[in-house]
Amino acid sequence: MSSIPKSIRQQVISEAEQRCEYCLTSSRLIGMPLVIDHILPKSLGGSDERENLAASCYRCNEFKGARIQGIDPETDELTMFFNPRKQLWIEHFAWINGATQVIGVTAAGRVTVIALRINNEYIVATRSIWVARGWHPPY
Ligand SMILES: [Zn+2]
Repeated sequence: MSSIPKSIRQQVISEAEQRCEYCLTSSRLIGMPLVIDHILPKSLGGSDERENLAASCYRCNEFKGARIQGIDPETDELTMFFNPRKQLWIEHFAWINGATQVIGVTAAGRVTVIALRINNEYIVATRSIWVARGWHPPY
């Protein structure tokens, strides 16, 4: 059971504007609540403080698991994942292919896209529907 107070959970999700802070999927579009991600996982000593918490969709959170880094395919270097509390999404990612896919434009962006499977076939197909409706991308 989580020890994060409900008020903090609501603050995290509200400040993220009900979007996953990794893939920017809106909880309103998927009809599922977001979860609270520990940027540094609790199993690695991460705290329940606001600065270690991010709003995440269920999929990103599951794929991230208890990891914090991955190998960047461009540099072959071990690189920390994107940190939504310390970094700006727009500086690390960009939409491509009619905003149906995300590319990492930095090493942190690239390892995050890969590890969290931000371009998995299910969400890419769904994004194309959102784009056609004018609901996506948020920015
Ligand atoms: Zn997500």
